[in-house]
Amino acid sequence: MQHNTSAYTNDARIGDNQNVTTKGVSVLTALVGSGESDNRAFRELVEALPVAIYTTDAEGRLTYFNAAATKLSGRTPELGTDKWCVTWKMFLPDGTLLPHDQCPMALALKGADVPTGIECIAERPDGTRFWFSPCPAVVRNAEGRITGGINLLTDITDRKNAEIEANEQFRAIVETTPECVKIVASDGTLLFMNTPGLDMVEAPSPEAVTGKNVYDIIAADDRDRFREFNERVCRGEKGSLQFDIVGLKGARRHMETHAAPLRHVDGSTVDLAVTRDITARQRAESAALLLSAIVDSSDDAIISKDLDGIITSWNKSAERMFGYTAAEAIGRPVAALLIPRDRLDEEPQILARLKRGERVDHFETIRLRKDGGRIDISLTISPVRDAHGVVTGASKIARDISESKRIQAALLASESRFRQLADTMPQFVWTARADGYVDYYNERWYEYTGFSHDASGDSSWKEILHPEDMQGALESYSAAIDSGQPFNMEYRLIDGRENRWRWFVGRAVPVRDAEGTIVKWFGTTTDIDEQKRVQDDLRRANADLEQFAFSASHDLQEPLRSVKIYSELLATRHGDTIDGEAGQFLTYIRKGATRMEMLVRDLLTYTQVTRVEATDETADGAEVLDNVLDSLSEAISESGAKITADPLPRLSAHAVHLQQIFQNLIGNAIKYRSPDRQPVVHLAAERQNANWIISVSDNGIGIDPAYKENVFGLFKRLHTNDEYSGTGIGLAICQRIVDRYHGRIWVESEPGRGSTFRFTLPV
Ligand code: ADP
Repeated sequence: MQHNTSAYTNDARIGDNQNVTTKGVSVLTALVGSGESDNRAFRELVEALPVAIYTTDAEGRLTYFNAAATKLSGRTPELGTDKWCVTWKMFLPDGTLLPHDQCPMALALKGADVPTGIECIAERPDGTRFWFSPCPAVVRNAEGRITGGINLLTDITDRKNAEIEANEQFRAIVETTPECVKIVASDGTLLFMNTPGLDMVEAPSPEAVTGKNVYDIIAADDRDRFREFNERVCRGEKGSLQFDIVGLKGARRHMETHAAPLRHVDGSTVDLAVTRDITARQRAESAALLLSAIVDSSDDAIISKDLDGIITSWNKSAERMFGYTAAEAIGRPVAALLIPRDRLDEEPQILARLKRGERVDHFETIRLRKDGGRIDISLTISPVRDAHGVVTGASKIARDISESKRIQAALLASESRFRQLADTMPQFVWTARADGYVDYYNERWYEYTGFSHDASGDSSWKEILHPEDMQGALESYSAAIDSGQPFNMEYRLIDGRENRWRWFVGRAVPVRDAEGTIVKWFGTTTDIDEQKRVQDDLRRANADLEQFAFSASHDLQEPLRSVKIYSELLATRHGDTIDGEAGQFLTYIRKGATRMEMLVRDLLTYTQVTRVEATDETADGAEVLDNVLDSLSEAISESGAKITADPLPRLSAHAVHLQQIFQNLIGNAIKYRSPDRQPVVHLAAERQNANWIISVSDNGIGIDPAYKENVFGLFKRLHTNDEYSGTGIGLAICQRIVDRYHGRIWVESEPGRGSTFRFTLPV
């Protein structure tokens, strides 16, 4: 189908005029045929007619023309010479030259059937042109032979010009409208589409879509609806429809069409539609829907008002917060509804700021509920502008801050309680932010340092820290902050009043929120100067004492040996002569010397425990046990003791130390045996975390539970020397050794049944 808008002009006048003309011509033809044309009256009549009329003979030579023909054609033809037509030059409507011998009159004279309604253009000798519609007819004689012709030319220039103008207007309208104008046949064939339409369907040229089926560009899910709609319009109904198209390049658009039936030139009814791309509108609509859903789901009251303070919108939360429904609130002034009497002056100020285009941020105030209750709210008010940027109203977001106000008050109260408490503490109490910045010190700090409350900032502690402790303190503080592990360190701070360094222990622990994130550090700094001094004194005194005990016991050995040797000599060489009381005294001297020797030896061992340098060596328990059993072999065989042991592990201790422990515990197990039974001693080892627990069990006399702790003390004995010989140092040595390895020693016993000594040593 050709894109020719003139084909669709629907003008009934053309046909009617043509009919009249055709009838007139046949009457004239009949008159001419019957010879009436020579009649004077006939000629006068034809002369007076306002339509151009001429006649020809059978060969087409002009035989007559009236005045109207001269006027229309702009020339006076030569009768008998000019052929076919009165006009000077003829053209077809498309502008091509139409030779006279092919004009409708010529065709009619040559016997062809010439249709009515033909439109032609003629040019006058002066170059002006006019539109006319010929209506040629032939005159036949009684035999039916063509004897001449008569033609009647109707000037249709005015109508044609109006028609062309209308066409141009139509075309201009169709092409300038931003909407898609299209004509679709009932079977879906696209007959016409304007340029904006072509753009919408992404067609590079009209040929890409015209003549093709328009259903192909309708989205598959809308295609049936569209087809049904198109068919309905083609049956004569008007209507509108929304549907999606998928353009030739794949873009999907949402369209809205308004269609009306149109009678086509071929008599069928087609669908003339004006279609609008409403994709953006639809998006805006859904965005607006989304926005209103957001507004409704907000916990904050969202209210809008005009510049007179009249409420124009009111969301669900506003209803919850203030108790008024949207219907009750909209249209009423904010001031009358929500603002307490004592705050009425706020509204004019707010409105004045809004009119200046200013925003009001987080304005904390009080508003009234419908039930008269007051609520603390925070207001954020922004001006709303129209498309020209003129402020027309305001949108207001109100947040209920009653709860946060309450929490804030509670916080303040707890903070002040904390400060009061902190100020009564003898320590320095401080807090730091999560990043370690100290943001609070208690009064004690300011009293001690003499710093002013605001002058020194968080690093004030550095100013009074001992230079030697600086590096370590900075490192361990930042390590604690980075790792979240508690901070614990001893350092010295200057004591300005006494002008000397004092020792402190600083401790800080992180405070975490519900998610476990550190929000603060809580720290104390405690004066340990006195304690440190006492400790140092004690350590020094202990060291002195140890040194003394060591030298004393060491130096005692020499004179002791002399006493022993000479009392021995006295007994062996002069034993016969010494008798009675003197002999008795000599025996006492010898016993005393032997006992003194034992004491000195054990004491020396005791003092030497801490002299053995710490070592990375480990001791093989089984090997050590063998050595001990060797050195105790005499006592074992004398007592008939049975000694058993589970496999013993290697222990992180000096072999000498392990040997001393075994020697003392096994020696005691044999010494404190029951007179009623064979002594049985068993050694066992059991692992507990990073330690071994070694046990030495016997079936001896046992220990009264009241003395369980006592027996490990220096010189502590439960028996006299006459009952069991001993110095009361053995278990003290064991205790001292175990202490040195940060272990523990203890005894479990049932008097009369036996004892189990246990001690721990590192793996
Ligand atoms: P002593 O030189 O007296 O043996 P110890 O320090 O070795 O000194 O022991 C302290 C005291 O503990 C002993 O005098 C004894 O009364 C008690 N004692 C130690 N081992 C045992 C044991 N296996 N059975 C009973 N009593 C014991």
